[in-house]
Amino acid sequence: MRKVKIIAGPCAVESEEQIVCIAKELKKIGVNYLRGGAFKPRTNPESFQGLGDKGIEYLLKAKEITGLAIVTELMTIDQVKKYADKIDIIQIGSRNMYNYELLKELGKHKCKVLLKRGLSATFEEWISASKYVNGGKDVMLCERGIRSFDNTTRNVLDLQTIPYIKEKTNYEIFIDPSHAAGNKYMIEPMSLAATVAGCDGLLIEVHNNPSEALCDKNQAIDIKTLKSIVDKIDELSNTKLIYKYNKKSIKEVK
Ligand code: PEP
Ligand code: MN
Repeated sequence: MRKVKIIAGPCAVESEEQIVCIAKELKKIGVNYLRGGAFKPRTNPESFQGLGDKGIEYLLKAKEITGLAIVTELMTIDQVKKYADKIDIIQIGSRNMYNYELLKELGKHKCKVLLKRGLSATFEEWISASKYVNGGKDVMLCERGIRSFDNTTRNVLDLQTIPYIKEKTNYEIFIDPSHAAGNKYMIEPMSLAATVAGCDGLLIEVHNNPSEALCDKNQAIDIKTLKSIVDKIDELSNTKLIYKYNKKSIKEVK
């Protein structure tokens, strides 16, 4: 049984062939969830915005073929009403962490919610936002890096999130080194570090042909690289090096 869960897939679903091909490869590696974006919140309106409804249709097809549970981002109340009962885990992206009406709507459905940390949200703001989803029921949190003064990397991965969330809440905490780093070479070391610090899972972007990825190609690793990272994570997570939380090590909050 894998101790650190893996959510993986391309930033965006680009075609039925692409997502089915990636899903089959991920199934062989044994990842836990297939993730692909259909509705993409792009900073630049000229950038590829995702395939929308078609993207969801292709993801569902990939699920049907491989049996992998799926994760995708939704951005509006209408999208949640339409798809909440078909998607296993709905991702709420960084930009929508403060969208309380959207969070309230999610709480009315049975799906799990992966709530990403806002671009510069404090822990308190993030935890408060999670409560809008039916008091925090079926919420999982995902650290994806925060804004800093230094833009050498896309964001700065705040690994202190792991002890904070493990000590102060009952949520599962996932780490997304892909959007934190914005490059390929930091994904493995940050995944290993997050594993040792006791994260529950990792969210990693992977592509069948990274140099041609329509979205976030600088951070897209290939399937072979993902397999090698997942193998190391599995090996590491079975050692005594992994920090274990007992919710007693820290007395004071904050
Ligand atoms: C993504 O997961 O593809 C994404 C856009 O992430 P974030 O909301 O963390 O920027
Ligand atoms: Mn992305």
